[in-house]
Amino acid sequence: MKTKMFSSKILNISPSATIAVADKANELKSRGINVISFATGEPDFDTSENIKDAANQAMKEGFTKYTTVSGINELKRAICVKLKRDNHIEYSPSEIIVSNGAKQALYNAFMTICDQGDKVLLPTPCYVSFTEQIKLAGATPVFVPTKEENNFRLTLEDIKDKYNPKIKVFLLNSPNNPSGAMVKKEDLNQIADFLVDKGVWVITDEIYENIIYDSNKHISIASLNKKIKEQAIIVNGVSKTYAMTGWRVGYAAGPKEVISAMTKLQGHVTGNINSIAQKAAIEALIGPQEVVEMMREEYTRRRNYIIKRLNSFKRISCNTPDGAFYAFPNISKLYGTHFEEKIINNEIDVVNYILDEAHVAVVPGKAFECPDHVRLTFAVSMEIIKEGLNRIEAAINKLKI
Ligand code: PMP
Repeated sequence: MKTKMFSSKILNISPSATIAVADKANELKSRGINVISFATGEPDFDTSENIKDAANQAMKEGFTKYTTVSGINELKRAICVKLKRDNHIEYSPSEIIVSNGAKQALYNAFMTICDQGDKVLLPTPCYVSFTEQIKLAGATPVFVPTKEENNFRLTLEDIKDKYNPKIKVFLLNSPNNPSGAMVKKEDLNQIADFLVDKGVWVITDEIYENIIYDSNKHISIASLNKKIKEQAIIVNGVSKTYAMTGWRVGYAAGPKEVISAMTKLQGHVTGNINSIAQKAAIEALIGPQEVVEMMREEYTRRRNYIIKRLNSFKRISCNTPDGAFYAFPNISKLYGTHFEEKIINNEIDVVNYILDEAHVAVVPGKAFECPDHVRLTFAVSMEIIKEGLNRIEAAINKLKI
């Protein structure tokens, strides 16, 4: 069938580059090649037993039917407890919707707020799905490049440069995927005041809030004052903090009217999320929290190792992420080098060279609207990190000018 038969909405969006790299790596693996993948952003830890027990219990009790679209009250109350405990913000269950991952919560938010022709301020580098979801909602992303020399940390000046009166939404993702950058408190305050002054919504994706390093502290923009809270939709979920990517539990918190509009949409698209996963998420959010710190400590060890190693490689420089579990090195100094007939002219050449020569999969920065970089996840074991980096280093050492 010809693709002309498809809608312009679908023709207008790009497939996920992360998945494209993973597919190529899988193809090599299927040929018996030992490939190391630094491509997908998924914790390598198993979900804790107490969380699995809660799911088992739910099944045993026959908790296997449709629930209210926006999630069971018990879970929405647990989310309110979490938002108060960790983010110091008061919400009531009517201001919460539970969705299939933070991904669907984001989609619901863009679809609810954006009209055809609206513009969304999107700091870059950025998570791949933001751009495509904004386009699906009929809006246009206005990219706000952050500065590498400022460790990719967003400032009000960056935003002011790109602001225009058609801007309806500002997307905040701190810690950021892929750069790991967090917005500093003073900058966050200034940004909040600016958004209140201009009457711009903020969708704040806080999925990496618990994976942070050094003395960094996560502050939700919605916690700064009452006015910004009224314009904010917090998006979060259990995927990263509790190693629960497959359970598909995310949520949004915001003003009641916007949450009920998002619920109306979700009611026609997926309905409620999996009933059993909802029970598991309650245990994750308000059960024992020690596992969160245990994982954070392990990510810290890996971050310190990977960033130090990458910076020791010839022609590679890498900023130190404040949070999340990605390294985002600048690889542009490799351009103009070659190994035998393989010539490196751009980041795609780098990605292909590393995959073909070192059998290591990394994601090109272009996928995150930030060329000249590649992304490596360190949500994989230390052994894999060491082996993968050894291979990359050996491949880079072969490149000649
Ligand atoms: N937001 C960001 C910034 C992410 O990196 C991801 C996952 N890679 C998501 C949202 C989606 O998370 P979930 O599994 O909850 O859908």
